[in-house]
Amino acid sequence: MANIQLLTVLGATGSIGESTLDVVGRHPDRYRVFALSGHSRIERLAEQCRRFSPTYAVVGDELAAQRLRALLVADGASTEVLVGEAGLVAVAQAPEVDAVMAAIVGAAGLRPTLAAARAGKRVLLANKEALVMSGALFMTAVAEGGATLLPIDSEHNAVFQALPAGYDRRPTAHGVCRVLLTASGGPFRDREPATLEGVTPEEACAHPNWSMGRKISVDSATMMNKGLEVIEAHWLFGVPADAIDVVVHRQSVIHSMVAYADGSVLAQLGNPDMRTPIAHALAYPDRIDAGVAPLDLCAIARLDFQAPDLRRFPCLALAYDALRAGAGLPAVLNAANEIAVEAFLNGRIGYLDIARIIEATMAQMADAGDASLEQIESVDAEARSRAKALVKTRETA
Ligand code: NAD
Ligand code: MG
Repeated sequence: MANIQLLTVLGATGSIGESTLDVVGRHPDRYRVFALSGHSRIERLAEQCRRFSPTYAVVGDELAAQRLRALLVADGASTEVLVGEAGLVAVAQAPEVDAVMAAIVGAAGLRPTLAAARAGKRVLLANKEALVMSGALFMTAVAEGGATLLPIDSEHNAVFQALPAGYDRRPTAHGVCRVLLTASGGPFRDREPATLEGVTPEEACAHPNWSMGRKISVDSATMMNKGLEVIEAHWLFGVPADAIDVVVHRQSVIHSMVAYADGSVLAQLGNPDMRTPIAHALAYPDRIDAGVAPLDLCAIARLDFQAPDLRRFPCLALAYDALRAGAGLPAVLNAANEIAVEAFLNGRIGYLDIARIIEATMAQMADAGDASLEQIESVDAEARSRAKALVKTRETA
């Protein structure tokens, strides 16, 4: 029997965080929770503390901390409440912690996730934006910290499973030719671009196959999510942009594939349920029950594939551009996307403005660098303020 692993879950109140706790709750003999974090939904965080009795809970500000403490005291719970980024970093790198689930959405997760990598933790990476922003720096932190980086994103988890054991980010040395990332195509995969002008946040968030947070749901509609995943795959697996393909596969049953020199293509299949990659990464190299229904291939009956239409999904092309340009461009892409998606979700800009704002921000910051964490954070801040200015010019009444 494996030793009990002590776990920090950053972003516990989100979609990935909830799925993580669902898996953890099935295996009290294997996992114990050291810390949980949440930015909103404080009542939900209190319930999670009641159930998992973490040593620490981390929230965004003092007001939230007071509310959480009051809820915990009423329960007689002994969880200590920490605040802000310093609190997140502390629970990510605490010496007792074995594994950190990085499931905060967006750039807010960068510093705590990096801290976990530097401290040599088993890092379960859902927070793709952190890796996209800081790829080279992040991978160096993983190597220098002696961390084990395990992808939670279903596509990258599938690729990881289809790669040989001991794969060391040198594709040619292992006979790896291409990485094939599958994409559902999101809710607008069959729509003509001209019909997308007036779509609402609710339509964009109605994903056909997966239930997720709102930001990643919009990213799936624009296929920026797949674009971020192309960049993520480059850093995780050492594969150049030209060897990463995106294949639209509407059933979301094949989660991704690896093509080898001998013509073999290895795929990982399963129902679209994030508890599978979460359980895989938690238990790796063991296998544990994830609570996921078995795959019924005969009920699914067919698997379809098609090439993505870059006219319909300009954000995917922008992400390839950012990866090829390198340096700070992926951080610019990510920051502009976060601002544009938020503005779209708040009804300030139209759906088609998202790509326009990202493209214009990238054009304004073509020489952005990524030499240090400080430089990446200043590129991120500048891209946000430029994107915000562009939002203003596009704002409809
Ligand atoms: P979500 O919106 O459901 O949850 C986000 C979590 O981050 C919440 O706990 C929230 O409180 C916290 N958070 C938000 N802003 C914060 C801030 N400024 N500071 C600290 N914490 C903050 O998102 P999600 O769908 O669970 O996605 C989380 C991450 O996982 C994202 O990076 C996403 O791209 C990635 N991911 C998600 C899925 C999925 O199926 N949901 C799949 C693959 C990858
Ligand atoms: Mg994914």
